[in-house]
Amino acid sequence: MTRVAIIGGGIGGLTAANALLRAGLEVSVYEAAGELREIGAGVALHANAMRVLKFIGVEQATRQVAGKTDYAVTRDGLSGRVISRTSRARQVELQGIEPATVHRADLLDVLAAALRSNSPGEVTSLGKRCTGVESGESGAVARFADGTAAEADVIIGADGIHSAVRTALFGPDAPRFTGKICYRSVIPADRVRASALADVTADNGQWLGPHGTIVLYPLRGEKLINVVCHYDDDSYRHESWVTECPREEVLQRYAGWHESLLRLFEAGDTWYKWALYDRDPIPRWTKGRVSLLGDAAHPMLPYLGQGACQALEDGAVLANALAASPGDPVAALAAYERIRRPRASQVVVTARARGVSNHLPSRWAQLRRDAAIAVRRRLNKRDADGRGATWLADYDATSPSVLAG
Ligand SMILES: Cc1cc2nc3c(=O)[nH]c(=O)nc-3n(C[C@H](O)[C@H](O)[C@H](O)COP(=O)(O)OP(=O)(O)OC[C@H]3O[C@@H](n4cnc5c(N)ncnc54)[C@H](O)[C@@H]3O)c2cc1C
Repeated sequence: MTRVAIIGGGIGGLTAANALLRAGLEVSVYEAAGELREIGAGVALHANAMRVLKFIGVEQATRQVAGKTDYAVTRDGLSGRVISRTSRARQVELQGIEPATVHRADLLDVLAAALRSNSPGEVTSLGKRCTGVESGESGAVARFADGTAAEADVIIGADGIHSAVRTALFGPDAPRFTGKICYRSVIPADRVRASALADVTADNGQWLGPHGTIVLYPLRGEKLINVVCHYDDDSYRHESWVTECPREEVLQRYAGWHESLLRLFEAGDTWYKWALYDRDPIPRWTKGRVSLLGDAAHPMLPYLGQGACQALEDGAVLANALAASPGDPVAALAAYERIRRPRASQVVVTARARGVSNHLPSRWAQLRRDAAIAVRRRLNKRDADGRGATWLADYDATSPSVLAG
């Protein structure tokens, strides 16, 4: 049986571990932190991601912790004018599966619980910070900061944007600062429910304005509202996901945006601020028996809400590729990279373009963009939000035909 060691127990690593276990492979996960944990923020799971969660048997568990949304709505950030609006029912009709929005910690819990039920023994080792990997003729070795090592037939680096596995394979390269920053907060809905904001917060909403995008969606039914606010800013380059900033800074930054947003922001006690980085797509993910997955392979801007979704797709394809070539993991990893790298690279580039299109500073350019959205929606009934990206949600990474393609 092929033994796979996954470095990193984040959303990507745990999804891949579940997919591999279900494919009958032997899996070990090595996580640097002392516990499996996620930041307090939401993640949008589009139809392409929900197909993978269904494939690994956790669709219903995910839905139980998902936010309740009736519409996906894009609005003008200043006037509140609706640019596009699609019901969840219509999304299901188009894509065959309902998308979801979840708290990242809840998703990690769902994935960890599935791992425990998919495997008789403990799969995850905590406090294992990988410092290097080597690929040999008959196996691969991961080395850890505590002086230990793990051997496997295949090693997968799912260790995030600062991947040690990627550095070991291809040398150091710095993430690219994108000139964009982000504020986020998770706000208890009962603090805003009584106000006139109820209609706004129940939507999965995107608000587009000069130099910025604001994304809102509910988590845990209707209990929490996830708020993520992007802005063009070349001066702040601190990457931490947990650096707090004063609410007044967010209010000043979005002064002049729609009043309902500013009132919502008032209800957020704790705000975080971080600079957004990605990397140019790289020409290779794999060396011999070692490959990359998730942000380690393709960190991207969040404008398509696809970073985690692509990590999930990686996990499904990896499992199917390894299961299809039981005696030849090197060939399986080559197939995995051949299938995944072009698509994930395309998503990285498209996410950058979406950031530019969302943040257009000129009123005329915004009106041209919104007119193009209206035309696309009219000409292509499948393109519900009119952004020309049906190729993202429509994709089924779990389909056996993906391997043949
Ligand atoms: C503002 C923002 C909003 C986003 N919204 C969305 C969204 O709506 N939808 C979506 O699909 N994506 C979204 N994303 C992207 C998504 O968060 C990431 O793409 C996703 O978390 C990547 O998962 P991962 O498992 O590859 O990496 P990570 O989540 O970074 O996990 C890596 C894991 O590896 C561990 N690790 C690190 N180094 C080592 C080491 N040396 N040894 C062992 N373990 C190690 C870490 O502790 C961690 O547990 C968003 C991102 C941002 C910044």
